[in-house]
This record gives sequence, C-alpha cells and structure tokens, in this order.
Amino acid sequence: MLRLPAFRYFSARNLGEAVRMLMDLGPEATILAGGTDLLPKMKRRQIRCKALVDIRLLKEISGLRRTGENGGEVHIGSGVPLAEAASHPLLEEWDAVRQAAAQVATPSIRNAATLGGNLCQDTRCIFVDRSEEWRAALGFCLKSGDGAVCHAAPGADRCRAVFSGDIAPALMAAAARVRLCGGEGTRLLPIEELYRDDGRVGLTRKHGEILTEVLLDRRSCRESVYLKLRRRDCFDFALLGVAIGLLRDQAGTVLQARIALGGVSPVPFLAWEASRTLLGNPLTPESVAEAASICARLAKPISNADASPSYRKRMAAVLVARGLEELLRKPS
Ligand SMILES: Cc1cc2nc3c(=O)[nH]c(=O)nc-3n(C[C@H](O)[C@H](O)[C@H](O)COP(=O)(O)OP(=O)(O)OC[C@H]3O[C@@H](n4cnc5c(N)ncnc54)[C@H](O)[C@@H]3O)c2cc1C
Ligand code: SF4
Repeated sequence: MLRLPAFRYFSARNLGEAVRMLMDLGPEATILAGGTDLLPKMKRRQIRCKALVDIRLLKEISGLRRTGENGGEVHIGSGVPLAEAASHPLLEEWDAVRQAAAQVATPSIRNAATLGGNLCQDTRCIFVDRSEEWRAALGFCLKSGDGAVCHAAPGADRCRAVFSGDIAPALMAAAARVRLCGGEGTRLLPIEELYRDDGRVGLTRKHGEILTEVLLDRRSCRESVYLKLRRRDCFDFALLGVAIGLLRDQAGTVLQARIALGGVSPVPFLAWEASRTLLGNPLTPESVAEAASICARLAKPISNADASPSYRKRMAAVLVARGLEELLRKPS
C-alpha cells in the first residue's frame, strides 16, 4: 500500500490568510482542496510538498451567485464541489459545464472534488502515473525525477503529458474567465490563459495564487454541449473531451462559435480554425462535416494515454459532428 509522506497541515480561515500562508511557506507549500488529484500524486511521490494549505473553509470561494445586467453573469466559487455544479439551477443555461461536471470520475469523487481543483489538476501520462520504483526503473523522464528524455515522444523537447480535466474545455466553449488572487493582487483572465503548453508545468498560475472563481456571461454563449470519450462511462478520465458553445440569432445564423478540445494535448485548446467555419450561416451538414474534419486534424494525441492516438484523432471528428448535430436539432 502506498502511504502519504510526512507534511505539515494548515487550515486557512479566510482568503487573505490562505494567501499569506502560501507566501510565507514558500514553494514547498501546496493548496489542498478536495485532495482527489493531489493526494494520490503525493502518495506516488509525483508531487513533493512539505506543507498543505487547506482552503476548504474559505467562504470567499464557496457557492454560486448571479450578477450583471438582467442577471446575465454567473460567478461559480472555485470551492464548489463538482456534484453541486453538475445539478445547480444557476447553471441550467450552461449545459456543457453541467454535463462535464457530471462526467468527472465517480459520485463519491464528485462530492469531494472542487471546481478549482479540477481546473488546476496535474497533467497525466501513463509513464509517470506510477509508483516511484516503477519510474526509477524506467530512468525517470522530463516531468518526473531527473530524467532527460520523454518516453512517450523521445524526440520531444518538452513534456507532452496530457491535460485530461473535463471542465476546462466546457468553460472555454462558454468563454469563461477565471479570477486568481495572490500576493501581488487579483487578476481576471480568459480561462485559456490559465494553461501553459508544457506538460511539466501545465499552468500559468504563480506560486501563492488561488483560483477563487469562474465567471460566465450569457452574452457570449447561449447553447452548449460537452461530449467525452473514455474507456468506462462510469469512471474514467477523458481520452478526448469535446465542448461546443454557440450564439445563434433567431434565424439560426451562427454569430459566435467556440469548439474546445481536451485530453489530446498538454493544454485544453480552442479549435479556432474549425470554429470560424461555422460563422455567418446556419449550421448545415456540410459546415458540421468541415468543422469536424478540421478538429481531427488539430487534435494531436500521442501514445501516453489509453487507446491509440489515431483512434482518438478520428473520434475528435465523430464527437464534434455529434455535438454540432445535437445543437442543430435544438431550436436556437
Ligand atoms: C479515480 C479518479 C478518477 C478521476 N477521474 C477524473 C475525470 O474523469 N475527469 C477529471 O477532470 N478529473 C478526474 N480526476 C481528477 C480529480 O479528481 C478531479 O480533477 C478533481 O476535480 C480535482 O479536484 P480537487 O478539489 O480534489 O483538487 P485537489 O486534488 O485538492 O487539487 C488538485 C490540484 O489543484 C490545486 N488547487 C486546488 N484548488 C485550487 C485553487 N482554488 N486554486 C489554485 N490551485 C488549486 C492543488 O494544489 C493541486 O495541485 C479523477 C481522480 C481520481 C482519483
Ligand atoms: S510525456 Fe514524456 S516527459 Fe511527459 S510525463 Fe510522459 S514520458 Fe514523461
């Protein structure tokens, strides 16, 4: 049985105290939310930290609220459990976000796991999500230990571990923004800017910064869908996640389109080239097929997750087409 290493535990009572603790403790301190991603990785010595700052008691990151003109904006606290996000009435108009939250892991994990932890989870790779002995036997790699090579892509200059989180693509399709609060103040950024195209350090978050909330705006997205490819529907990580967000006028003309792909690269990303082909016209079988085939080209999975890269690439076209057809069947 793998055991947790020794660490110091601090429970913060408010946001200011949590930020101060993280700054005072320095880079060896890590944020603890639901612990469903962090603790297994600490057990496997993939993540090493000497102190955990528990943010679960912070009122500032709990709950959901509506603001803005006609209540068109929704703020989701980063501490909201995924089970709550999956069925919350304030998210009724954001299908993709609720569908993504509902498909993370299992019911027991969704009760403990938080939105912030889901967005800030580590990248994954079959060569590192193993015990330390197993990784040492392989000679470690660019992400794990002192290794100098990538076992999944030997010619790669940086780690290509995959970001497999479900909710980030759904939020990208909805043009969401995230708020980070740290020692240097607060910043609000489009969710895509939270991610860095390097599987070793997948986030642009600075040390001590806490993701406090996610902001959604009805003016950017009126309809959306999230589809997930995985081995077992009751449990597994995404081998591919496809989220689509649209804004259409009454005639069905697409005014805004955002197709986001997850599970096929170190960052979840917006497939702009495919999204642009949908603009200015109603959805048609031809435009759906074109967007789907561009997404298959843009998806570049490698052999570091379950299922072959070519299958996952082909499935990108299938899921994008399926998602667009689902939206096409709905009245705009
Ligand atoms: C068996 C199993 C199956 C899983 N399946 C899925 C799946 O299908 N889809 C999926 O997306 N995930 C899956 N996960 C991963 C994980 O459970 C979820 O991503 C979960 O949402 C993580 O949230 P948490 O609150 O537990 O995060 P934690 O484990 O507490 O934290 C994860 C990381 O985020 C950081 N962090 C947490 N909160 C914040 C914050 N507010 N600001 C800044 N940094 C923060 C932590 O320091 C840590 O580095 C699975 C995990 C397990 C064990
Ligand atoms: S993609 Fe390569 S460097 Fe990154 S974790 Fe996997 S084997 Fe290691």
